[in-house]
Amino acid sequence: MCSIRRTVLIAAALAVVAAAAKGVSVARNRDLPPPALDGELRFDRVARDAVADDFGHLVRTPPEVVLLPGSTADVAATIRWAAERGRTFAPQGQRHSVWGRSSAPQGKTPPVLADYLGLSVNGTLAVGGVGGTTWRYGVQSDNVVSMVVVTGAGRTITCSAEHHPDLFAMVRAGLGQVAVITEATLALVAAPRQVRRVVLSYPDLATMLRDERLLVRDGRFDAVQGAIPAAPTGGLMFQVDVAKFFTGSPPDDDVLLAGLSDDAAGRTPSTIPFADYLNRLAGLESALRANGQWFHPHPWITTFIGDSRVADVVDDELGRIDAAHDLGAFGQIVLSPIFTAAITSPLLRTPSEELCFAFNFVRVPTTADRGNADRLVEANRAVYERVRSNGGTLYPVSAFPMSPEDWRRHFGPAFDRLREAKRTFDPEHVLTPGYEIFEDVPHHLSRRRAAPG
Ligand SMILES: Cc1cc2nc3c(=O)[nH]c(=O)nc-3n(C[C@H](O)[C@H](O)[C@H](O)COP(=O)(O)OP(=O)(O)OC[C@H]3O[C@@H](n4cnc5c(N)ncnc54)[C@H](O)[C@@H]3O)c2cc1C
Repeated sequence: MCSIRRTVLIAAALAVVAAAAKGVSVARNRDLPPPALDGELRFDRVARDAVADDFGHLVRTPPEVVLLPGSTADVAATIRWAAERGRTFAPQGQRHSVWGRSSAPQGKTPPVLADYLGLSVNGTLAVGGVGGTTWRYGVQSDNVVSMVVVTGAGRTITCSAEHHPDLFAMVRAGLGQVAVITEATLALVAAPRQVRRVVLSYPDLATMLRDERLLVRDGRFDAVQGAIPAAPTGGLMFQVDVAKFFTGSPPDDDVLLAGLSDDAAGRTPSTIPFADYLNRLAGLESALRANGQWFHPHPWITTFIGDSRVADVVDDELGRIDAAHDLGAFGQIVLSPIFTAAITSPLLRTPSEELCFAFNFVRVPTTADRGNADRLVEANRAVYERVRSNGGTLYPVSAFPMSPEDWRRHFGPAFDRLREAKRTFDPEHVLTPGYEIFEDVPHHLSRRRAAPG
C-alpha cells in the first residue's frame, strides 16, 4: 500500500459556491467580505461560465462565484462563508488531473480505475468508480484507505475505517452530500508492464452472457467488460473486451481463450503497454472532439441488474431501442459482470444477488437537438423504472430527474444512515444540492435562501 497524497491534493477540486438551490437566486451580500485564501475566488463571468455546464450538456447552472482552492483550509473557509450567507457549495472535479497517469510510472496502480482517465480522483470517489477490474476489486471508493474531508459545517477531518468510520462510510460514493474530499490515500498494487487484450464477438446476447459468467467465475482475465454497440450495417454487435495483465513472458492465448463460445476466427489479440490500456478511451475522446459529438448533450443512464433478470431485462430493452439513433455510431450499451460482494461502499447500491451486471446506455447522439435529448432523458426514466421493478439499482451517474422518494427507495436501508450523517455533518444543507435527495431542508434555510442577500 502506498500513498499518493500529493497527486490527489493537486487533483483535489475546482470547488464551486453555487447560488441557492432550486433556482432561487440570492444576491451576494457585499457587506460581508470573503475569507482570506491561499487560492482565489473568481466572481467574473468567464470563470463562472466555464463551470456552469458539464459533460451531460443538459443542465446549466452558473454559480455565483468559483473557488480555485490553494489548500484544504480554503475549502473549509469557503464552505463556512457560503453557509453563513445561505449559499450552497458544490464541488467539481472534471477538469483536473487524473490518477492513472501519475501512479503507473511509479510501478504502482490503484487496483481499479475508471475507463476514462479524464475524471478527477475525488469526483470519482464521490460516485464510486467502476472499471474493468471492478468484478474482482470493487469500485474505486472501495479502495480508499483514508481521506481528508471538509464537512458541510466547515470542519476538516481525516477519516478512515478506524477514525470517524461513519463519516468515511458516508463520503465514499456519497454524492458529495456530507463532505468535500480534499485529499485521498489510495490502496495501490504493483502495476503490470503489459496487457494482452482481445475483443471477443458473439452472435447473440445469451452466448455473450454465458461467457461473461464463465470468465469472471474462473478469473482467467483481469478485466472483463461487455458492450453492445450498433453494427455499421444495422442491428447490434455483442462483444466482450478482455485483458490479461502481465510483466515478462506473455500469457498463452490458447490457454486464455480455451472453451469460449465467441467467433474464434474474428479474434485479433494484441499486446499493449499498461499505460496505453489505461488510456484506451483517449482515441475515442479525440474522435468525438473532432466531430463535435463530445459537446452534444449526453443523456446517459447507468444501472446494475441482477444475474437472474439480466437476460430478460436486456433483451426487452434491446427490443425497444433504435440503436443507431438512440446510442449513435460511437455509443454503446455496457453490459459487464460484477460480483456484488466486491463492492463494499455502503452507499453504492447493488442488486441482492451474488452476481450482477453494470447495464449502461452510453448515448452519443449525432445531433445537439434539445428535443432529441429530452426524449432520451424521458426514455432513461422509463428504463430506470423497468430496471428497478426487476430488482436492479441505479449508478447515480445518470441523466434524468430523481425525486426525494426515488432516492429514499434507491438507498433503501442505507437512507436513514445517510440522512443522519447529513444532519450531523451538513446540518445546513450547504453541500451539493443538485441531487435533491432530502425533503427535509431546514425551513429557516429555505426562507434565508429566498431572501435577498
Ligand atoms: C467520458 C466519461 C467516461 C466515464 N467513465 C466512467 C467509468 O469508466 N466508470 C465510472 O464509474 N464512471 C465513469 N464516468 C462517470 C464519472 O465517474 C462521474 O461522472 C464522476 O463523478 C466524474 O468525475 P468528475 O471529476 O468529472 O466529477 P464532477 O462531474 O466534477 O463531479 C461529480 C460529482 O462528484 C462531486 N464531487 C466532485 N468533487 C468532489 C470532491 N472533491 N468531494 C466530494 N464530492 C465531489 C460533485 O459535486 C458531483 O456531485 C464517466 C463519465 C464521462 C463523462
